[in-house]
Amino acid sequence: MASSSNKSITDISYIINELGEERENYFRAIAPPIMQTSNFAFEKVDGMRKAFEDEYSTFLYSRGLNPTVKILSQKLAALDGAEDCLVFNSGAAAIFAAVLANVKSGDNIVSVDKPYTWAQKMFNDILPRFNITTTYIDGRNIENFERAILPNTTLIYLESPNSWDFAIQDLAAVAALAKSEGIITICDNSYCTPLYQQPIEYGIDLVLQSATKYIGGHSDVVAGVLCGSSSMIKKIFESEYMNIGSGIQPFNAWLLIRGLRTLPARLDRITKTTQQVLSYLRSHQKVESVIFPHDENFPQFELAKQQMKGACGLLTFIIRANTVYDIEKFCENLKHILMAVSWGGHESLIIPRCSSITVDEFDSANAEHRMIRLYVGLEDPDYLINDLGQALENMNNA
Ligand SMILES: *Cc1c(COP(=O)(O)O)cnc(C)c1O
Repeated sequence: MASSSNKSITDISYIINELGEERENYFRAIAPPIMQTSNFAFEKVDGMRKAFEDEYSTFLYSRGLNPTVKILSQKLAALDGAEDCLVFNSGAAAIFAAVLANVKSGDNIVSVDKPYTWAQKMFNDILPRFNITTTYIDGRNIENFERAILPNTTLIYLESPNSWDFAIQDLAAVAALAKSEGIITICDNSYCTPLYQQPIEYGIDLVLQSATKYIGGHSDVVAGVLCGSSSMIKKIFESEYMNIGSGIQPFNAWLLIRGLRTLPARLDRITKTTQQVLSYLRSHQKVESVIFPHDENFPQFELAKQQMKGACGLLTFIIRANTVYDIEKFCENLKHILMAVSWGGHESLIIPRCSSITVDEFDSANAEHRMIRLYVGLEDPDYLINDLGQALENMNNA
């Protein structure tokens, strides 16, 4: 925050290991201190006066700026190729602040279909109370954006890829269209992380991600990141960020700095393991199909290849099953892969789609009901493949 433009910083090793760290200020410690303080003292009245005037660039109170958080936010801004960054206590808070900052009563939002649950709840349940409407579209086709934009549309909300079916949007095309209409764009980039996709490079205004996922990487922190231009981020800091009061706490910021140290190594490892797991699943007779953006059969494969440097641990497969009980059996048979929400940590996870419908609603003819979302973590590939294998073999044994 309040840092100079990070635009020129592109060396990931430098960003992760050095940027923002002023070791001479803390005994040359390799790991930065956790500045677990709520407030900061002044020697002069004038210093306090200046802080009140500009809380964005002064340490006054940790709901605003905090030194540990500042180290983290400089790194995250640079990774996104953004000028500035705010770090929140959750991805949901980053979404809330980014959207709220860019709408007023009477406005319309154009959003991709099925955005992250809590973005959708904000659009459906909270914003209508303030006379703000949302139009959902299939974002795979640029014409759908052109058709949906109304005279009062002020915001386009993207999530590319989506975290279940991995539908993607042509970010450069949407950004160009939005710019020509004076509309702000926000993109949820949780799936890719800035290492695999930089929406700002394509002209997107605000990019956010759940740092709970890959940035934290150890399933122990809930946090969110919002990056953009200095002017947009400063405006959000001075209003929504300070008012919602959901900035990340120093200890969690420290855990994310620690997570960042190994981010490239973890993504490399997960990317390789995912390929092995995918080829196993593709060849299994109980697997009807796999959905993965960098899979040749993915409907938007060309765009995914062009826009995303990588795709890693999150994939969906359609399991062959006649009853919901077969799917339940498969899930419950897994010995190592855990059944849990979230992803991006060290541990592999599954969520069956049938867990969000009732047993009576289950229709085996509907492939969506037979979806299994799998997150591939840091375990050995064979450990995971063996676990999947035994669970698939035994799923029809009552
Ligand atoms: C998890 C997630 C979020 C929300 O982040 P939290 O840190 O859980 O608040 C937003 N978008 C996507 C795509 C996610 O997977």
